[in-house]
Amino acid sequence: MTPQITVVSGKGGTGKTTLTALWGSMADRPVLVDADVDASNLPLAYPHETREQHPFVGRDVAVVNEPLCKNCGVCARACRFDAFFQVEGQFRVDPLACEGCTLCTLMCPLDAITMKPHVSGTWSVSETGFGPLVHAQLGIAEGNSGKLVTQVRRAGEKLAEERAAAVILVDGPPGIGCQTTAAMAGASLVVLVTEPSASGRHDMERLLSVTNRLGVVALVVLNKVDLAPAEEALIRTAVSRMGAEYIGSLPFIQEVPGLLASGTLISECPRALREAAEGLWKVILERALVAERVQQGEPAHG
Ligand code: SF4
Ligand code: SF4
Repeated sequence: MTPQITVVSGKGGTGKTTLTALWGSMADRPVLVDADVDASNLPLAYPHETREQHPFVGRDVAVVNEPLCKNCGVCARACRFDAFFQVEGQFRVDPLACEGCTLCTLMCPLDAITMKPHVSGTWSVSETGFGPLVHAQLGIAEGNSGKLVTQVRRAGEKLAEERAAAVILVDGPPGIGCQTTAAMAGASLVVLVTEPSASGRHDMERLLSVTNRLGVVALVVLNKVDLAPAEEALIRTAVSRMGAEYIGSLPFIQEVPGLLASGTLISECPRALREAAEGLWKVILERALVAERVQQGEPAHG
């Protein structure tokens, strides 16, 4: 199977998307996946053309069939999530508040409530100069982002098979929520981007405990190392204690976030950052190929 590399970080602002974008531009025949569905930024890095867009149906929600409803209020009293409201006496359901428990459909004496699919976001396939990019956007205040993450990952895997891709590179969501777990589960390898601070180290340790539980090989990269060089030794020690591999650091370059935001990161990337990222990418790819072979039950060095 195509090796799948997921890049994560304990929190936003570590430079995870910047590095994923750079590595995507260095990869041979990649499929790129932006699994940060709450704040999709990877498309900013590449000029792209969207060729498919699909609705994302995260769950079913209750809908009142108004001609059948006599506005008795039984449903509203039964709902534990306060999902009902009234407009000129007519009961309706707020789809953002409905948890889809179906209780109201059982309680309504007139069978006036049905469960219907609720579109809570979109996912798209775009073409970049480096390979196809799968990305998504969850609607404001919508939940179920873990399910949408799984959706974009599956779409990336299908594309990789169709196009005989050499690697799937996933920009994971920041943090350690369920969507991050959804982005890491089943990956050949996870690359954890951290920064040189006590809180960065703490977030990294929490994420490594998740990769350990999932049984996924984890590599750690320290970004912006020159902000606190003494932290590197502490990070190395923590990484090795937790059974992961520390593979190196990258310099802090102030203008980089601006380059990502303006879409010029790939064309104007400072040389020091590009060279450091290139060196790390070779290691990441090599480890991912070995990890994928091991996952498939093949010898590590075939
Ligand atoms: S229980 Fe049924 S009839 Fe009564 S308000 Fe709700 S939807 Fe209308
Ligand atoms: S399905 Fe459950 S959560 Fe949704 S409106 Fe009905 S009772 Fe409330």
